[in-house]
Amino acid sequence: MAKKLTSKGFGARYGKRAREKYAEIEDKQRKKQKCPFCDKKSKRISKGIFKCTSCGKKFASGAFYVDK
Ligand SMILES: [Zn+2]
Repeated sequence: MAKKLTSKGFGARYGKRAREKYAEIEDKQRKKQKCPFCDKKSKRISKGIFKCTSCGKKFASGAFYVDK
């Protein structure tokens, strides 16, 4: 059986729309989050809160990824 790209381990559960939305967000979240001050890597601390691993600045952005 062919596995759909958008299913990501959910099988047939939760509906197509919800799985697609989740896959979209997860993709962005898995990518490296860039610090808006120095363009280096930053880490997500909590919902919408990120901290740069280079300059140490804390900043707010999207809930799951750095939104620009
Ligand atoms: Zn930085």
